[in-house]
Amino acid sequence: MDHVIQFLIEHITWFPVILFLFLSLRYFLISSIMYVSLWFVFSKALKKRRIQEGALLKNQIWNEIRHSLESFAAMSVICTPLFYLYAHGKTTIYHNWVDYPLWWIPINILIFFFWHDWTFYIHHRWLHTPWAYKHIHYVHHISRIPTPFASHAFHWVEGAMQIVFIYPVVMWVPMHPWTFVGFMALSAFFASWGHFNYELMPLGTWHAWWGSWVTTSTHHNLHHKYNNGNFSLYLRSWDRVNGTLHPQTEERYAQYSKKD
Ligand SMILES: [Zn+2]
Ligand SMILES: [Zn+2]
Repeated sequence: MDHVIQFLIEHITWFPVILFLFLSLRYFLISSIMYVSLWFVFSKALKKRRIQEGALLKNQIWNEIRHSLESFAAMSVICTPLFYLYAHGKTTIYHNWVDYPLWWIPINILIFFFWHDWTFYIHHRWLHTPWAYKHIHYVHHISRIPTPFASHAFHWVEGAMQIVFIYPVVMWVPMHPWTFVGFMALSAFFASWGHFNYELMPLGTWHAWWGSWVTTSTHHNLHHKYNNGNFSLYLRSWDRVNGTLHPQTEERYAQYSKKD
């Protein structure tokens, strides 16, 4: 990775292009593998775990891909000034693992996680206000029955907003580049997870101590089905404390997480 970073520091005009290609490739890999696996290869075995039935809209997947590529273009442009600051030593990114103690890495990930989760909830609530929904967020909700390709299908303005949260973290929280890349990769997979249209978590999850805090595919799927409630990203606790948990979430989760 050091060679790539060095190349981009010396040729910063290539940064948005390379980032766009990287985001697109990652998206196509995750979405294609999960779509083919869940919707075709294992669709019979997972029949009872399929959340919404019915046909997709005409050209739905093509539109999901098109809007995702628009979002990646916006994200790549938004990230370029941050990379410029990084190239000029203005961020807190560090390259030697030994520069900070090992215990810092999990703390670092937790800070990143909670910051992303909290800012996502706030901006997602704002996106459901009448003006923002009508002009921006409606794009993501065109897919009433989401597919893994809907994970990044946003209006380009929302795509740009989705990535701004990394600025304070990269500017002020010391982080190794691999911690950053690893977190963002897991986050991309989790975005796809919410749009599988299949519930893969075991039945006991809902009442497990850890399960009672997290969102699952059913949680976000209900958000697409009803355009309301379930605004959380990783932790459904934000919906619980703010009274925005969709009332059908537990019942539907129990229905789709049953094996047979
Ligand atoms: Zn929404
Ligand atoms: Zn969604």
